[in-house]
Amino acid sequence: MSKDYYSTLGVEKTASQEEIKKAFKTLAKKWHPDVNPDKKQEAEEKFKEIGEAYEVLSDENKRKIYDQTGKADFGNGPGSGFNWQNFTHFSDFSDIFDEIFRGFGGGSPFSGASGRREAQLDLSVELDLTMAESYTGAKKEIKFRRSVDCDTCKGKGYEGNVKTCRACNGTGQERIVQQNGPFRYINTITCRTCRGMGYTGDRKCMTCHGSGKKSVIEKKTIEIKPGIADGSRMLLRGLGEMENGHSGDLYIFIKVRPERGIERFGDDILIGKEIGFPEAALGSEEQVSIFGKLITFSVPSGTQPNDIVKIKGMGFQRIRGNGSGDINVRISVSVPKKLSSSQKELITKLRDELDKKSWFSK
Ligand SMILES: [Zn+2]
Ligand SMILES: [Zn+2]
Repeated sequence: MSKDYYSTLGVEKTASQEEIKKAFKTLAKKWHPDVNPDKKQEAEEKFKEIGEAYEVLSDENKRKIYDQTGKADFGNGPGSGFNWQNFTHFSDFSDIFDEIFRGFGGGSPFSGASGRREAQLDLSVELDLTMAESYTGAKKEIKFRRSVDCDTCKGKGYEGNVKTCRACNGTGQERIVQQNGPFRYINTITCRTCRGMGYTGDRKCMTCHGSGKKSVIEKKTIEIKPGIADGSRMLLRGLGEMENGHSGDLYIFIKVRPERGIERFGDDILIGKEIGFPEAALGSEEQVSIFGKLITFSVPSGTQPNDIVKIKGMGFQRIRGNGSGDINVRISVSVPKKLSSSQKELITKLRDELDKKSWFSK
């Protein structure tokens, strides 16, 4: 194996340690994977090559062996060659990242801190509904606790001479950069100087003891539209936690309690109804009770057990689009368990009659 580390770094074979370091820094900055999001894989490859070349050439012993043998296997295991675990120049890297960050005006373009911060302010509550409420719609009161800015200090946590925190520029957040081989991890943590307040001052606010917040219990009446389904989510903007005048959102997760004997499928309702054998045979008018409301429907003659009779447009109101789903009534047929002798006689007659009919039809 003969990689040309000198040309990788673009330096002469006679280059001094100073020149090698300079060349490495320039290239590492250029090829850092975070600076090349559009060609990350190529950048990672290049970055690794640069790191490997620097690892060897910056170490006089390794460089000597490499110059003499053209090889860079220093016994890290068979075929391993270069390995980030053995890379010894992480401090050089941190310089480079500082420069990269300064180039971006102090803020990392990759951390997306502001978006994440908003999401941290969101709250959620669960709202239980009966199936009847989800069918007819309802007005429900929700109660939840959230923190809002302290009135006295307007969320700053300090009174008197209040200044924007210089450590975090008032964002309340600090970025911690960790390096692992060629990869950098950015963690956003609460600023340790101002404890996330974004402000410093000489006197803590007496009202909130410096927290900048007060906890309040909010009560809201919300309108539940008819047809709302289990697992739906409602959004109330601006009712999440408040921080420095910004509020997150409140998500309401709808839970609909199951109801015995009534099942929901999409916007349709499935319900069972038992009718007598003569009604199934002759047809009849029947009623089902849906959430306390009696609905009349026709069972056609010749209805079989488990047949579905549809009551159109009486299901759940559609949340999207117009109209409502249907009620599907699954018919079961009851068979009398006890019969008087005259009833027995009549059914026997009917059986004989039906037998005759089927015999003729063959
Ligand atoms: Zn700060
Ligand atoms: Zn306060």
